[in-house]
Amino acid sequence: MTSKYLLKYPTGVADSPVISKTVLKTGVMMNILRANVDYGEATLIVDILGDKEEQKKVVDYLRGEGVDVSKLEKNITNNVEKCVDCGACIALCPTEAISFKDDYSIKVNSDKCIRCGVCVEACPLRALEIVRA
Ligand code: SF4
Ligand code: SF4
Repeated sequence: MTSKYLLKYPTGVADSPVISKTVLKTGVMMNILRANVDYGEATLIVDILGDKEEQKKVVDYLRGEGVDVSKLEKNITNNVEKCVDCGACIALCPTEAISFKDDYSIKVNSDKCIRCGVCVEACPLRALEIVRA
């Protein structure tokens, strides 16, 4: 079982090896899907590879280290009223989260999305939106 989480490191925490420490202390594996570092502040999207209890252990540990943690239930939405199914977003998605259905309309798999925002920028009709965490 895995779930995606958004981690926001405040200034100062970004320089310390929080992820490695968390894995060592909890024994629960994490997969970093995306990382942004800007002026000492860092935002990470991670998959926590464990059951509910293991995920809670990781979340509690990270919060104890000063990291802001939110579970990502939904990552991206496609406004079907705006979308013209041009397919421009499909090839750009690094995780294959967007595909055509059998009827050539667009299907977005939010579980695969890592919130990179590439499709949002690429869509000429602004039909895609990252869901706020
Ligand atoms: S780029 Fe925009 S309009 Fe084109 S298929 Fe993707 S979401 Fe729809
Ligand atoms: S935000 Fe990135 S990962 Fe998510 S659907 Fe768009 S291109 Fe794919």
